[in-house]
Amino acid sequence: MNEINPSGWRPAMNTTSIVQEIETFTGNRALQLEEALLFEIGSPDRSGVDFDEVTDIDLSALGPNARKGAPNLPGLSEPETVRHYTRLSRQNYAIDLGVFPLGSCTMKHNPRLDEKVARMPGFADVHPLQPVQSVQGALSAINELAVWLVKLTGMHGVAMTPKAGAHGELCGLLCIRAALEAKGDPREVILVPESAHGTNPATAAFAGYRVENIPATADGRVDVTALTARLGPDVAGVMITNPNTCGLFERDLKVIADAVHAAGGYVYCDGANFNAIVGRVRPGDLGVDAMHINLHKTFSTPHGGGGPGSGPVVLSEALAPYGPLPFTARQADGSIKLIEEEDAYLEHPHAFGRMCAFHGQMGMYTRALAYILSHGADGLRQVSGDAVLNANYVLRSLDDVLDAPFGPAGHCMHEALFSDDGFAEGFSTLDLAKGLIDEGYHPMTVYFPLVVHGAMLVEPTETESKAGLDQFIGAMRSLAERAKAGDEMLKSAPHLAPRRRLDETLAARKPKLVYKEV
Ligand SMILES: *Cc1c(COP(=O)(O)O)cnc(C)c1O
Repeated sequence: MNEINPSGWRPAMNTTSIVQEIETFTGNRALQLEEALLFEIGSPDRSGVDFDEVTDIDLSALGPNARKGAPNLPGLSEPETVRHYTRLSRQNYAIDLGVFPLGSCTMKHNPRLDEKVARMPGFADVHPLQPVQSVQGALSAINELAVWLVKLTGMHGVAMTPKAGAHGELCGLLCIRAALEAKGDPREVILVPESAHGTNPATAAFAGYRVENIPATADGRVDVTALTARLGPDVAGVMITNPNTCGLFERDLKVIADAVHAAGGYVYCDGANFNAIVGRVRPGDLGVDAMHINLHKTFSTPHGGGGPGSGPVVLSEALAPYGPLPFTARQADGSIKLIEEEDAYLEHPHAFGRMCAFHGQMGMYTRALAYILSHGADGLRQVSGDAVLNANYVLRSLDDVLDAPFGPAGHCMHEALFSDDGFAEGFSTLDLAKGLIDEGYHPMTVYFPLVVHGAMLVEPTETESKAGLDQFIGAMRSLAERAKAGDEMLKSAPHLAPRRRLDETLAARKPKLVYKEV
C-alpha cells in the first residue's frame, strides 16, 4: 500500500475519514494552508517600502481626474508579501511536479541546461539599445537560431521578432497582405478549418480579413473538396494547423497548397504542433508560405502561467521580402549586422513594418538554441518520434474504456483525442477532468477542438517515462470507468484539492475585480 509508485511518490496514507474529524487551531491542514486575498490581509498602515512624507502638493493642479482618497491598495510588509505568493505557488501544479497532459500546449520538461545558458550574463544582461558592436555574441546567437529554424522547416527566411504564436500568426498574415497588395490584388477572405485553434480566426479578423470556416471530414482532417471549391479571387489565403488540433497529420497539405497557389492565395501553417514532426517533415516541402514556431512549445522555455513566449515565423521565398524589421544578417567579414529602418531602403525595401520595439525575446532565443544544439539534428528527430510514440501509447491504452473518435482511422501524432461518448447520463468531460485533480494530475485540455463532443485532448510529450505514463493511464482508466458507471462522488470532484468545484460561469460573468471599497 505504501510502496513508492512509478512516478516516484509514496501514495498518501488513506486518512481521509480521520482528517475530516481533526480540527486544528489555525484551520490549516498540515502544510496545506488556507490563503486569503491580499486585500483581506493588507492594512493601510503597513508597507514594504518607505516613502518620503508628501507635503506641498496642490491637488487642484492635478486636474479633475486626480484621485481624491487613499489608493485602494493592500498594505503589506515585504515578508508578508513574499509568504503570500510563496504559499500560493505551493498550490500550483507544474510540469516540475508531474505529468501535465494539456493537449495543444506541449507542456514538456525544460532541460535545466537551457535555463543555465539563458542566465549567462552575456545574454541575460544585454540591453536592446547597446551599440551593435558590443552585442555581437547575442546577435550571433539570434542569427544561428534563425539559420536552424530555416533549415529545420525547409523555408527561405524567418522573422524572429514575434513574441508568441498568435503574434506570429499576425506577422504571417501581414506578410501575406503586403505580398498581395504589392501585386495590386488585395483580397478579403481567409479560410480557416473548423478544428483550428481560436487564435487563427481571431488573428485573421484582427488583420482585417473576413473569416470563413472550412468543415472537417469524418476522419478529423480538412475537407479538401470543400476547401478547393471555395477558392477564388477573393481568397487571400488559408490557415491550416499541421499536425492539426485533432492530433492528426494533414496529409493533403501539399495538394491544398498547390490549389491555393493556383488560385493566387497563400498558405499559412499554424506550426504550434511542430514538436510532433521536427526533424522528420519540412513544412517548406509541403508548400507552406508562412508558419510560426512556438519556441516555448517545441524548443524549451517553461510556458505555464502565460509566458513569456516566442513565435518566430518562417517564410517562403514568395513572402520573405515582406518580412518585418529588424533582423540579423551575417556579413562577409563574419560580423552580424542588424538590418533596421535606415538600411531597409537598400537591403529590404518591401518590409511591411515591425512587430515589436526591439529584437524579440532574447531569453527564449537562448533557451531554444541551447535546446537545439544540445539535441543536435538526430536528437530533435528522436524528440518527435518519442512524442508520437507516447501519444499513441496513451491512445491505445485507453481506447477500450474511452471513446476515441479518430482512433479507428489509424495512428495519432503528438496528442490523443477522446470524447465523453458512453459516459453515464449526466456525466461529462468536466467530471473526469476534475477527478484527475484528486488523482494528483493537472487536467487535460477539455472541450477543444470543437469538432468533437466533450473533447479531451491529451498530449503526454516525449519527456514522460513509460512508468509515469502507465500511472497516468491507470488514473484515466479508473475515472473513465467511474464516469461510465455514474459514480456520484465524481460529479462533485475534486474532493482532495484546496478548493472544491468552482462555479466557472459565475467567475467569468461576475468577476470580483475589486475586493473592497476604501
Ligand atoms: C498554443 C497555440 C497557438 C497560440 O500560441 P501562443 O504562443 O499561445 O500565442 C496557436 N495555435 C495552436 C494550435 C496552439 O497550440
